[in-house]
This record gives sequence, C-alpha cells and structure tokens, in this order.
Amino acid sequence: MRRKIVAGNWKMNKTPSEAVELVNMLKPLVANDDVDVVFCVPAIDIIPAIEAAKGSNISIGAENMYYEESGAYTGEISPAMLTDVGVKYVVIGHSERREYFAETDQTVNKKVLKALEHGITPIMCCGETLEQREQSVTVDFIRQQVKIGLLGVTADQAKTIVIAYEPIWAIGTGKTATTEQAQEVCGKIRECIAEIYDQATADAIRIQYGGSVNAKTAPDLFAQPDIDGGLVGGASLKADFGAIVNYNK
Ligand code: PEP
Repeated sequence: MRRKIVAGNWKMNKTPSEAVELVNMLKPLVANDDVDVVFCVPAIDIIPAIEAAKGSNISIGAENMYYEESGAYTGEISPAMLTDVGVKYVVIGHSERREYFAETDQTVNKKVLKALEHGITPIMCCGETLEQREQSVTVDFIRQQVKIGLLGVTADQAKTIVIAYEPIWAIGTGKTATTEQAQEVCGKIRECIAEIYDQATADAIRIQYGGSVNAKTAPDLFAQPDIDGGLVGGASLKADFGAIVNYNK
C-alpha cells in the first residue's frame, strides 16, 4: 500500500519572514498521520521554514537543484547545500523551469541522478501542453519524459522517487484535469515504469497529480488507484492546503 504524499510548490512566493508565518499558520492544519506532507519553498526560505516546521509532520523541500557538486555555477544551489540543512525532497523539471529556464529531459535526468546520489527524493515533473493533448500525443510525450528522466536510475532507486503528472494546461489556470484524465495518464505512467523495470517497482513508485488541485477536487483525485497524492501550487499558500492534505477526513 503506497503512502500518500501531498507537496506544496510555493514557486517564487513568500519572503523568509512570510515563509515562517505561513508555516506557522499551516502547521496545525496539515497534521494527518496518513500522508507525507512536503512544502517545497524558494531556496532562501528553506532554512527559516525548516526551523518553523520543527516538531511538526512537515518536511521542507527545494524547488530546484543543480546537478554538479560545486564550482563556478553562479546562482545555483548544490545537493550538498540542501542536505546540509535537512532537505529531503526536491522538485525537478517543473514545467515552469522547462519553459523559462531551458530545462530539458536531459538536465532533468542529470538532476534526478544527482539528487538520488545525495539521498534527496526527487519529485520529477512531467506533463503535456494543451496542443499535445488535442493532438492525442499525451501518453507518447509523457512516456518519453519519464523514460529519459529515469535513464540510469536503478529499480531500487526508482522505488523511492515521486513522479508528478502535471498537465501544463491545468497549472495555475483553475482548470483541473478531470479525475478520469488524471487517472488515465497516471496509470499509463505506472505501466511505463513496469515496462522499464518490473511490476514491483511500478507498484512502489508514488505518482502525484498536479494542476489546480483544490480542497474540492482533491478527494476524488487522490482516491484514484494510480494517484498517490498531489503537487499543489496556488492552494499550497492558503489554509486550503490543510483541507487538501486532510482529503480523507
Ligand atoms: C504547480 O505549481 O506545480 C501547480 C500544480 O500549480 P497550481 O496548483 O497552482 O496549478
């Protein structure tokens, strides 16, 4: 039985002092023993957020990470910098990073491998554009993203990672994929994992849905057989996030 995982993606929101306020506000609301709860926050918010989250069930994650150990990579953050302060999760290959910061399936793969090497759980994102959906190439496209993203990842490593299926047309638009659309693609991702590895790996890997998830849509989405939780943007900055995490109460 896979444990649910609900992660917030704060994107470029909240100063360090606002981050502390938000963690303190959400701490009592996100208590749920059945769910892993992660707040993926801007790099500068990581340390104060970790401090504020102490004693709660919240893990703090990063929104990005570079794939080299250290060196002349101005502006980047290394895996060792993240683990040194207690970061356990990192979002990799979010569609906004692919669109605005030239991330590719190849850089996603390098980052996934590097995160795993450092014991950080990657939340590896994939998702199609509206045009791709309309051209009926969604599953082909997602399979390619997943296969390249996981190149060189062993079955044992793959069992620990999280894949976030986030249709680009549903991110920040208020347009949630229907439960059927989300389940269909998450099911196809699981089939793809079984093809690459084996059924045991496919059964272990956690697959989230992301794209305008809110307190109303979460219960149905998270009840689907292949959806193991959500990656949540806008609603993770509000009290709503507590209701999303407590979708089963
Ligand atoms: C996201 O940023 O990953 C996301 C899904 O955003 P939103 O929930 O706002 O659509």
